[in-house]
Amino acid sequence: MKQKEILLNTLLKEDKVLLQKLSADEIGDEHLSTGFETPMRKNAFELSNDEKVKKISHHFAEIMETLGLDMKDDSLKGTPLRVAKMYVNEIFSGLDPSNKPKIALFENKYQYNQMLVEKDITFYSNCEHHFVPIFGKAHLAYISTGKVIGLSKLNRIVQYFSKRPQVQERLTIQIARELQKVLKTDSVAVLMDAKHLCVSSRGIQDNNAATVTSFYGGKFQEENTRQEFLKYVGMKTDY
Ligand SMILES: [Zn+2]
Repeated sequence: MKQKEILLNTLLKEDKVLLQKLSADEIGDEHLSTGFETPMRKNAFELSNDEKVKKISHHFAEIMETLGLDMKDDSLKGTPLRVAKMYVNEIFSGLDPSNKPKIALFENKYQYNQMLVEKDITFYSNCEHHFVPIFGKAHLAYISTGKVIGLSKLNRIVQYFSKRPQVQERLTIQIARELQKVLKTDSVAVLMDAKHLCVSSRGIQDNNAATVTSFYGGKFQEENTRQEFLKYVGMKTDY
């Protein structure tokens, strides 16, 4: 029972509803690796968005004040509220499962059972260790098993998971798992190539470093399929 409680604490609302119907035995040990879920508190949605904005605004004003800024200055006094609204309604809106894109599947009328690649999707996220931007390109692919989704939905899935405090590895896996779930196939590839401002604008200050993360599921685990995907994406394949 304890195991089940630990597990429930680490899951998103919708997955929790599913899991609560299962006994601890049914969940089993192998489901305990939930490192790919964004760590959220159980009561993450007790406060309304308006209450969250108010609270964050208050605390952000404290941070600015502590730094020695004059909060009566015309240019600064609106900043705490602006930051709070940006956090809740924009750059961290992907923490709220109710903002998850609704995906409609279509029959694959063309019997197109080849690889579909959607490349160069621009994304903006934030590093959960420093709260500064991570941004770059995502390249996705899947091999249809009879169902297809609108191309813009692929983009929306990337944006939804990006709008959270993230680490790039988890972001990549969250996008891949969501694609596998909605497309009802394991054959999904996700490649993300990004710049981390916590590396380039502070700390080690390396302006050229980029981070590449990948996920290859189903047929993409086969070398030929993977090479075909990488060829379309236009990356060097000899690494
Ligand atoms: Zn960082």
